[in-house]
Amino acid sequence: MLIEKYDLEVFTPPCNPGSERYAARARLFVDISEILPYLNATLRGAVYLPSANALTWKKGGHNIAFHSYEIATSNVEDRDSAEKELKGLINLVNDTWERRSEITPDITIRQRPTSMAVYKLLPQTNCKQCGEPTCYTFALKLIAAQRNLTDCPLLAEPKYEEKRSALEEIMIDAPAIG
Ligand code: SF4
Repeated sequence: MLIEKYDLEVFTPPCNPGSERYAARARLFVDISEILPYLNATLRGAVYLPSANALTWKKGGHNIAFHSYEIATSNVEDRDSAEKELKGLINLVNDTWERRSEITPDITIRQRPTSMAVYKLLPQTNCKQCGEPTCYTFALKLIAAQRNLTDCPLLAEPKYEEKRSALEEIMIDAPAIG
């Protein structure tokens, strides 16, 4: 196990005092830099910054960051969820560490696609079948990992196959943590 103990803190970010959103931070007693290329290979949609020993990731609208001695999540709905998510992230790191012999580490530095780039690959019919008012709103939620490509039924149609493939290249369904 890579992370055996840590100090956990749940708080309201000082930049947003009194807000209804919460952040959680685990201060680690071990350097997890070595695992970041493995997370970069498996957490599709992650942005890896080797020079800063940092990897950021968005899941369900939450902002997640892995640093050498710290893992943090922010923009979470409540304290319990923030704590639970952080424990899930610790498990994710430990699981990835256990499986590292099966994973090819990846040091590629990727950029997140822009909302406009994603929107251009959607059907752009604003049909609302995904439950969103517009395709652009859907694009924003895809980027925030609050929606998956399969939530747009039109993308399953043969005429959108090329766009769907392009979206699959740049958009990534976030894996479950917990
Ligand atoms: S279901 Fe697809 S095409 Fe329809 S509004 Fe949602 S994203 Fe746009």
